[in-house]
Amino acid sequence: MNLDLSKVVNGLKSVADFQFDLTLTDEFLKEINAIEASMFSMTGSVKKIEKRLMLTFDYKGVISFECHRCLAEVKLNLSSCVTRELMEQFSEDEDDQFAVIESGAIDLIPILEEDILLNLPLQILCSEGCKGICPQCGTDLNTGSCTCDDEKIDPRLEALKNLFT
Ligand SMILES: [Zn+2]
Ligand SMILES: [Zn+2]
Repeated sequence: MNLDLSKVVNGLKSVADFQFDLTLTDEFLKEINAIEASMFSMTGSVKKIEKRLMLTFDYKGVISFECHRCLAEVKLNLSSCVTRELMEQFSEDEDDQFAVIESGAIDLIPILEEDILLNLPLQILCSEGCKGICPQCGTDLNTGSCTCDDEKIDPRLEALKNLFT
């Protein structure tokens, strides 16, 4: 989704407001191992402050993942506020704080996706105390139990256990 900033860049306006509903790219959803995502709504503006262009927006949306332990579907509500300075072209000392305007427009999706990535938890769980699934029999230990742990004791541990009984 390209936001046309030509009027702001050319000085005809000092501010451009926008409201978009954006679809995240399939590549991004694959990169973050998401099952699916809702549309993301973005509301914000680009302001010209002297010679600088500042982009500010709020976003919100929902992304579904598999719980890292039990594979149940987990829906994460994501929302944040992003501020970036925009530049008309890369300079020698380019850094990540800047986003580049090309031919008077800026692509908002990479900026949105980058911020979502920064805000994702390292481990996505259906709940803090998720017990996961048994690696041996596949039972979901949140809803049932199995006897794998009892039956399969490492022989070295068994020898140790016998010392104490
Ligand atoms: Zn889980
Ligand atoms: Zn089991």
